[in-house]
Amino acid sequence: MSRALTNGRPGHRDTGGHPDWCEGAHHCTANSLPSGEHASRPEVWITDIGRFIGTRYRDRAGRDRMELRIVLDLAEDERIAQAQCRHLMALACKVVSRAFGHA
Ligand SMILES: [Zn+2]
Repeated sequence: MSRALTNGRPGHRDTGGHPDWCEGAHHCTANSLPSGEHASRPEVWITDIGRFIGTRYRDRAGRDRMELRIVLDLAEDERIAQAQCRHLMALACKVVSRAFGHA
């Protein structure tokens, strides 16, 4: 997979041209919208439990962010499906807080 979230090289925080991981075209709005941002090609991981889609962004101030989407199959029972949704949200929040939060 090329030009996904990162190319493995140290990133640049320039606010001028596109970073080397920016997909350009319709993905990138850095030069077309006042609040535009550079965007990577979404990286998709298909796993046994679902699909994970990550996209990297950089705004005009040079701040980098990442969006992660998780797509899972839910139970047919509506109550269980709702519980699965809340559980995924709570679990994802907990894991990300532990990994990236401030102690
Ligand atoms: Zn760009």
